[in-house]
Order: sequence, then structure tokens, then C-alpha cells
Amino acid sequence: MEAEEKRLEEIKHLIRKAEHITVLTGAGMSVESGVAPFRGENGLWEKYDAEEYASLKAFEENPEKSWRLFKIQIKETMAAEPHEGHRALAELEKRNLESIITQNIDGLHQRAGNENVIELHGSLSRLICPSCDRKYETQDFLETIMDDEIPTCDCGDILRPEVVLFGEPLPERAMERTFAESNNCDLMFVVGTSAVVQPAASIPIWAKSSGAEIVELNLERTPLTDEISDHFLKGKAGDILPSLLD
Ligand code: NAD
Ligand code: ZN
Repeated sequence: MEAEEKRLEEIKHLIRKAEHITVLTGAGMSVESGVAPFRGENGLWEKYDAEEYASLKAFEENPEKSWRLFKIQIKETMAAEPHEGHRALAELEKRNLESIITQNIDGLHQRAGNENVIELHGSLSRLICPSCDRKYETQDFLETIMDDEIPTCDCGDILRPEVVLFGEPLPERAMERTFAESNNCDLMFVVGTSAVVQPAASIPIWAKSSGAEIVELNLERTPLTDEISDHFLKGKAGDILPSLLD
């Protein structure tokens, strides 16, 4: 048996014997669905400086400018479809996958059929009013957004996507659930995250210190690979995840 094949067999065995699997996903999970990552090749930050467009300060000072980036993200997300890797995770939820903790804001895991998805950075599918906290479905404002108009609340203030902007804390409830999942899982997959954004980069460390085995899947090595990951699978999420289920 070839080394690579042997490693896949080993991981399939880990999946079969696991009692509680948790998956942490980052922007790399959605690349094959056509959603650009932040960093790396074709990353959004190559064109749009994060501080300038997607920070709380930027939105407060010039919401029209932030909306130029939000519009691109919403458009891209609307056009994206879940890929085979998303579908494999939905299939695994019918077995022993307990939860997905995602940094993605595109809703693709839910669209693939996963029900227990913890959104650490919120979602583009909802809009919220910074003044009165009223929430809306982004879907209901699509025409406005595509016409380059800025969606507003019934109270008159400018809405924003319910996503975590730079300079904002992560949602408390999502963090609590993330702590619990990291503590309780015995196997954690870390898929398509560059592991440089906190606290997401620490989640595999918490899981490992609670006794979980860590399987990392990425196109390239990350700060986790040598220190934390028990197994590293190099390749695309859409190729590797389905191959772990057959
Ligand atoms: P990142 O952009 O920093 O890194 C992406 C990682 O994915 C890289 O390590 C890259 O090697 C890897 N990768 C690229 N293509 C891959 C593939 N096909 N299969 C497997 N791995 C692949 O992403 P991050 O670590 O999630 O950074 C964090 C921020 O990016 C988060 O705050 C998140 O909210 C935001 N973000 C989300 C989306 C989305 O919702 N889809 C898109 C862009 C950015
Ligand atoms: Zn309002």
C-alpha cells in the first residue's frame, strides 16, 4: 500500500471509531465554490484593504465605502454552490459529526445540509441595524444592494451585514459553543484555514489539550502543522473530504 493510501486508511479508521467529531473550517473550504479567500492567491485583501473597508471604524466613518466590499461578498456568496467537500460533511453529520465551527460567512455548510453549524464570524445572509438591532434577511434587500443603493432600517439608519468586522469581539454564544465543542470532541478536522486569525487559530490547540486528535487539511502547511496537527493532508477540501467517507 502506498504511503498516502495508508494515511487515508488510518484517518478513515479514526473517523469510524470517533465518538464526537468537530470540524473547523476557514475560507479555503469555500474556494472551490468560487468564494475568494482573504489571504493568498486571489485573496480579497489584495484589492481591498481590511482596515479601510471591513473594520468597525471604517463602517462608522464611511458606510457607503464598506458597502462596496459587502456588495462584492454578497454577490459572490449568492453565486456560489456547495461542493463535494461540503456535501461529504453533511453526510458525516448523519453519522458521528457533531458540529462545524466555521469562520466563513457564506452559509455554504447549511446549504449543503449541515444543521449544527457555529458561525464564529456571523453571516452575510442577515443584515442588522446598528442603532435599533433590528434584523432583516439579506435576500429581502437584494435589489437595493445590486442597484448600488445602501439598505436602510425602518428607523432610518444604514444596515450592515451581521458579520464580525475588524475591531469587534466575536459573538459570545458562538464562542461558548466553540469552547464546549473543543472540549468534548475526540477528533477535530481543521480545513482550509491559514490559522493566523485569533481566536480561531487557538481552537485546535484547545481541542488537542482536551485529548482530541487533530487532522489538518490544507493546500499548504500552516503554523499548526508541525506543532499541533497529528495528521496533515495536503490537497483540496473538495477532493479529500469525499475520499475519507467512501
Ligand atoms: P485565509 O483566507 O486566511 O486562508 C485560507 C486558507 O485556505 C489558506 O491556508 C489556504 O492554503 C487554504 N486553501 C485555499 N484553497 C483551499 C482548498 N481548495 N482546500 C483546502 N485549503 C485551501 O482564511 P481563514 O483562515 O478562514 O481567514 C480568516 C478570515 O477570512 C475569516 O475571518 C473569515 O471570516 C474570512 N473569510 C471568509 C470567507 C467565506 O465566508 N467564504 C471568504 C473570505 C474570507
Ligand atoms: Zn434600526
